[in-house]
Amino acid sequence: MLKVGILGGGQLGKMLLEAAAPYPVETHVLENDPECPAASLCDHFTTGDIRNFEDVYAFGKSLDKITIEIEQVNIEALEKLASEGVVVVPEPRVLRLIKNKISQKQYYREHQIPTADFVITHSRQELIDQLSFLPAVHKIGEGGYDGKGVQLLTNANDLSRGFEAPAVLEKRVPIKKELAVMIAINEKNETAIYPLVEMCFDPTLNLLDTQLCPAQVDPLIASQATAIALQVVEGFRSPGLFAVELFLDTQDQILVNETAPRVHNSGHHTIEAIESSQFDMLWRILLSLSLGDTRLRSPSVMINVVGTGTSGPAHYHGINELASIPGLFWHCYEKKVAKPGRKMGHITLLGGDVNTLQQQALGLKSKVAVSGSSER
Ligand code: ADP
Repeated sequence: MLKVGILGGGQLGKMLLEAAAPYPVETHVLENDPECPAASLCDHFTTGDIRNFEDVYAFGKSLDKITIEIEQVNIEALEKLASEGVVVVPEPRVLRLIKNKISQKQYYREHQIPTADFVITHSRQELIDQLSFLPAVHKIGEGGYDGKGVQLLTNANDLSRGFEAPAVLEKRVPIKKELAVMIAINEKNETAIYPLVEMCFDPTLNLLDTQLCPAQVDPLIASQATAIALQVVEGFRSPGLFAVELFLDTQDQILVNETAPRVHNSGHHTIEAIESSQFDMLWRILLSLSLGDTRLRSPSVMINVVGTGTSGPAHYHGINELASIPGLFWHCYEKKVAKPGRKMGHITLLGGDVNTLQQQALGLKSKVAVSGSSER
């Protein structure tokens, strides 16, 4: 049986393992925390640091294939494993390019892919020299995720919040909508493209809050966004599953924000709303099967359920009532500890139209909570 390893054991790893059930595959997970969401679902769990060369190399050397559920992994170890015949999806070269926001932005520029104008800074002093470039968004080259490592700088007073490390200073985009497209590409270079989705963010946490599918945009915008995302992914020349995040600005221009080389939060709805989910699709790529069907079964709205209140052992409020709502699917990530802003689960709603679902989702947000105490 094919042995496939996953670096990282969070909720994306858990949902990837849930989708492995129909396939003949032996699953392995490497993660520091033996109580992580993916630990109980894999065939073999290894405790170790996905950022450490020795841990990743030792984990991968007896496997046939290896993939990731988070970008912050040791790429040198993956390169060595690939040179010894372990198939890494996507290729380590692409992970290296994407992992650093500076090389990722340079890739877009070199490939004439529309993206917000930017300059590169290496220190706060270099940032001060770019005062005339503001308002802009300062993004740390490596190590940021879920909005951490991103600072909006409007004027000179904000410069002290900039990063004292290699970073991208990107023009602030007047955003009308945030969009995303997931694209699968296999070793024969065939592609499968998911319908465009729209993402609405929580302005305080900078975390994906709700996601609508299909995106509520003109069909022309949808086809332009999809074509740009395809250009991004085809240029990588590597099998994989990619999520391309885009901005639609107030002038109806489409700009690429960033790409994730893995299963992604913007694709959770695909479990119920699409014929072949993003997780199923990644197994098809890993197992060299035909790509899946990306047709929409039903419009959907997905809500992230994030921790509120204090940090502590997770308490779920209002979850039991969800079971009686038709067209509602609750995914609990089974994290032991809740922290404010931590992703604890998600809800997908299916139904006739996105606007009605959005209203339903708003109603749910006041009823459901996960917090670190028995009080709401
Ligand atoms: P992360 O990789 O941590 O998710 P992003 O680069 O996606 O960080 O940025 C997080 C959020 O910050 C985006 O979803 C968007 O709302 C906002 N943002 C990022 N870049 C810009 C920009 N150039 N102009 C305006 N807002 C931006």
